[in-house]
Amino acid sequence: MEKAPLPNKVREFSKWYDEVLSKAELIDIRYGVKGFVVYRPNAMIIVKKIYDLFEDELKKRGHKQMLLPLVIPMSNLRKEAEHVKGFENQVFIIERAGGDVLEEKLVLRPTSETAIYPMMSLWIKSYKDLPMKLFQSVAVYRHETKATRPLLRGREFLWIETHDAFATSEEAEAQIKEDLEIAKKVYDELGLAFIVVEREEFDRFPGAERSFAYDALMPNGEVLQIATTHYLGQKFSKPFEVMFMDERGVNRYPYTTCFGIGISRTLAAIIITHGDDYGLVLPFGMAIYDIVIVPILYKGKEKEVIKKARRIEEIVRNAGYSVKLDDGEETPGEKFYKWEMLGVPVRIEIGSREVSEGTVTVFRRDLRKREKKKDGELVEYLGYLKSDMIRVLRGRSWNTLKERLVKVNSREELLEEAGKGKIILANFCGKKECADGIKAETRGYEVRGRRIDEPVEPWGPCVWCGEGAKRVVVLAKAF
Ligand SMILES: [Zn+2]
Repeated sequence: MEKAPLPNKVREFSKWYDEVLSKAELIDIRYGVKGFVVYRPNAMIIVKKIYDLFEDELKKRGHKQMLLPLVIPMSNLRKEAEHVKGFENQVFIIERAGGDVLEEKLVLRPTSETAIYPMMSLWIKSYKDLPMKLFQSVAVYRHETKATRPLLRGREFLWIETHDAFATSEEAEAQIKEDLEIAKKVYDELGLAFIVVEREEFDRFPGAERSFAYDALMPNGEVLQIATTHYLGQKFSKPFEVMFMDERGVNRYPYTTCFGIGISRTLAAIIITHGDDYGLVLPFGMAIYDIVIVPILYKGKEKEVIKKARRIEEIVRNAGYSVKLDDGEETPGEKFYKWEMLGVPVRIEIGSREVSEGTVTVFRRDLRKREKKKDGELVEYLGYLKSDMIRVLRGRSWNTLKERLVKVNSREELLEEAGKGKIILANFCGKKECADGIKAETRGYEVRGRRIDEPVEPWGPCVWCGEGAKRVVVLAKAF
């Protein structure tokens, strides 16, 4: 068997990840500022696609795009007590500008609640101004103290944040459901499996009344939070004095929600979930090209082969695919290696045999399988591959997740399954002491929260203390 160009993804995940980021020309870590990376063109194609999918879904459901300043006055950040406690120690602060000390310090947004609510207090006057559903697509800045990893944990990361305000708590709660639908729809299109949980009280977004999170799976069994949505109630509208006059002329505080979609982490999840030991694996529309054509040239037959390759290139382009005819100087083997590393979904190989037979050899990247097709069948087959490849990627991702999930009934079973790197479902009493105990004795398993995409009722007492269980929670190591 040919030797794969990358380390094994499961056994040497960390090495695999660093090498695929570099060899597929996705991320450059040599910028020189810890926690800050450069997104190269191949990464930005995927980033743009993720942004487009989410922004389209948000707009379809009545959100409008806006853009807030990067800087937030320090006094704004301090207005909501829990919120500032959660973020104060991880913000970047600007103290000087143009050689002078600023009258008021400015922070680089770690998230934008404290930027948007002062504006909402100016924009929202009457019930007629509600609901107000806004979003922005930006980078945010948090001075992470844990070890940084490109895309997975950076001090600058790309995301989308929504900020929605409603007249009633019912509408705000309905928005949380809508956020979950949006995330499900887009992650499905990206072929990513995930678990949705409601966080425990001791693990909420600073200032939120309820927090929900999307966790994707890493090859080592750890989970990666890729999006979160929060019900904020009136906890931000009150300190920021956002008020509206209702139909009876009474002034009230609106109920608000926010939805944070980690674009950098979603990119990481796509690379990690779909990639293999030969490089990136991407569905159509996300790689530099959908299709590359590699002519296999033999002496004396070059002309016919190139002529056919050009003809096929035109047919494929007219069918709506982005295509590259790679007639460069490298050997076919070198070309195969390169385009596989970059995750190009389909490669068409054309040699003198294909010319004489009236066929093409089609290689699909997800299964790394070749199939011969008659020239006349090519376009139809590409249409099939386009939908089949995303189906295969999605199915693989879900199977891997399901294989990891296991229910446990006792402390002993919990410790045993944790040792195997499983994602665990267990009965839980809701107490922080139990969560802390589990984390200490399993070397890092966290209570991620109550699963809400496939709710399960408790079937026994708390797995840790043996007292009555309030709910079933997901236990996993977080990246
Ligand atoms: Zn307990």
